[in-house]
Amino acid sequence: MNLKATRRPRVLIIGSGFGGLFAAQALASADVNVTMIAKTSHHLFQPLLYQVATGILSSGEIAPATREILAKQDNAEVLLGNVRHIDVEARRVHVSTLGIEDEFSYDYLIVAAGSRTSYFGNDQFAHDAPGMKSIDDALELRGRIYGAFELAEISAARGEPSDVDRLMTFVVVGAGPTGVEMAGQLVELSKRTLNREFRHIDANDSKIILLDGGDAVLSSFDPSLQDKVKTELEGMGVDVRLGAMVVDVDEQGLDYKDRDGTTHRIEAITKVWAAGVSASPLAKILADQVGLEVDRGGRIPVQSDLTLPGHPEIFVVGDMIALDNLPGVAQTAIQTARHSAAQIVRAVEGNPSSEDFSYFDKGNMATVARFRAIAEVGPIKVTGFLAWSMWLVVHLFYIIGFKSQITMLLHWAVTFLGRDRAQRTITEQQVFGRLAMEQDGRALPESLGRIMRPAAAAKNDAENEGSGGRGSDGESAPQPTP
Ligand SMILES: Cc1cc2nc3c(=O)[nH]c(=O)nc-3n(C[C@H](O)[C@H](O)[C@H](O)COP(=O)(O)OP(=O)(O)OC[C@H]3O[C@@H](n4cnc5c(N)ncnc54)[C@H](O)[C@@H]3O)c2cc1C
Repeated sequence: MNLKATRRPRVLIIGSGFGGLFAAQALASADVNVTMIAKTSHHLFQPLLYQVATGILSSGEIAPATREILAKQDNAEVLLGNVRHIDVEARRVHVSTLGIEDEFSYDYLIVAAGSRTSYFGNDQFAHDAPGMKSIDDALELRGRIYGAFELAEISAARGEPSDVDRLMTFVVVGAGPTGVEMAGQLVELSKRTLNREFRHIDANDSKIILLDGGDAVLSSFDPSLQDKVKTELEGMGVDVRLGAMVVDVDEQGLDYKDRDGTTHRIEAITKVWAAGVSASPLAKILADQVGLEVDRGGRIPVQSDLTLPGHPEIFVVGDMIALDNLPGVAQTAIQTARHSAAQIVRAVEGNPSSEDFSYFDKGNMATVARFRAIAEVGPIKVTGFLAWSMWLVVHLFYIIGFKSQITMLLHWAVTFLGRDRAQRTITEQQVFGRLAMEQDGRALPESLGRIMRPAAAAKNDAENEGSGGRGSDGESAPQPTP
C-alpha cells in the first residue's frame, strides 16, 4: 500500500524497541498511517543480550528486522534514522540518516527512544568497560571475553603468569539482573564450556568478580531473594563485593572505593559495565520545550495519561518516562505503548479521552545460571528450577518470530543440557570495531552523505512537488542538535 496516497492522520513513532514496536502493532487496524523511525533496522530483545555476548545465541535470534515483523501491517512503514530534534510547536521531527538530513511532520507522536548506558558522568569508562545495550555491545563483549582466553593461552605458553591472571579475571560492574546474569554466565562459560579446551591454561581458574556500590545484589527484589542469589553466586565461585564504588577504569583494570573510603585495585582486562542507564537525550529535548525538568536518570515526568502538558498529541513511553516509580522494564514499555495507541485510536475515531495509565505488575524475574533463577509474582516467590522454567517460557513467549523461538530452543538445549555454545565466532572487527569508529566514525556519515545526497535530494524534491509529502516544504535541511 502506498501510504502517501492516503490522507489519514500520521502517527510517527520514534524507536523500534518494546515501546515502539508494540505501539505500531496496536495501531494495526486503526485508520491512521504509521511511520516508525529508529536508529537500528531491528527490534532488539535486550533481556537476552548477555546470551549473545557469551556465545549462546546469535544476534539475529534476538534482533529480527523490524521491516519483516511489520511487513503484513499495511498501514505501517519503517524508516532507518537517528532523530536529532523534535519541534513540538511545528510538529516536526528532524532526522539524520548517514549524513542525510530530513524532516517529518506528524499528527500524533509516540516517543519510545528508550535509554542508554550511563557511566554516571564518567563516559571515559566506556572505552575499557563496554555496556550492554546493543548488538554491537554484545558482539564486542563476546570478542573481548573469548579473546581474553585466547590471549591467556598464548601468555601461559610464553611463561608470563601475571598477564594470564589479568586476562582471566573478569569484572562485572553492577549487580542488577543484567550483572547477575552476566556473572553467572561467565562462570558457566569458564567452568562448563571452556574448561576442557585449552592446553596451557585451566579455564576453571578464571576469576569472576561482581561489584556493586549498593548493599545488595538485585536491589529491586525482596531481601530474602537477594540473600539467596548472593549465596548462590558465591557458591558458584563469583567474588561478590558490595559497597564497592568504581572510581577509575583503564585498559589493565579498575579501581574502586569501599565503604571505608579505601581504594582497591583489580587487574582485569575484561570489564563489563552493567551499572545503570539514563534516558534517551530526546527526553530532555522534549522537556525543555514544554517547561518540564528531567529527573536524575534523564527521564521526563509525563502526565498521568502519558502525554506532555499542552500537547495531547505527544505520548512518551517506556524507559524514557518518570511516572509513579514505574520500573524500566519491558512490561512498562509494552503497556505504556498500548495505552498511548488506544488513546490515539479513540481520538481518531472522534472520541478523544485522556485516560490515566495504570500499570499491571506481572512480576519480576532474573536468572543466576542454568536451571537457577528467581521470580517474584505479587506475594509469591519462586526460586530454583521452577523459576528458571518460568523464565524460559516467558522469554520464549515474548521473543518475536517462530523461527527465533525454534532456533533459540535448540541453542538453549546445546548449552543448558550439553556444555557447548553455538555462537562463539569472533572477528577482529568485533574486538577493535569500536576503537576504529571512535577514530574515524565522525567523518563516515558525512562522506556517505556526500555520496547519497544527490539521489536523496532529487527524491525529496519530487515528493515536495506533490502535496501531503514529508512536510519539509523545500526548506533547507535542519542542523543536527548537538
Ligand atoms: C541487558 C539488558 C537486560 C534487560 N533485561 C530485562 C529483563 O529481563 N526484563 C525486563 O522486563 N526488562 C529488561 N531490560 C529492560 C528492557 O529491555 C527495557 O526496559 C525496554 O527495552 C524498554 O523499551 P523501550 O521501548 O522504552 O526502549 P528500547 O527497547 O531501548 O528501544 C529504544 C528504541 O529507540 C531507538 N532509538 C533510540 N534513540 C533514537 C533516536 N534518537 N532516533 C531514532 N531511534 C532511536 C533505538 O534504536 C530502539 O529501537 C533489560 C535491558 C537491558 C539493557
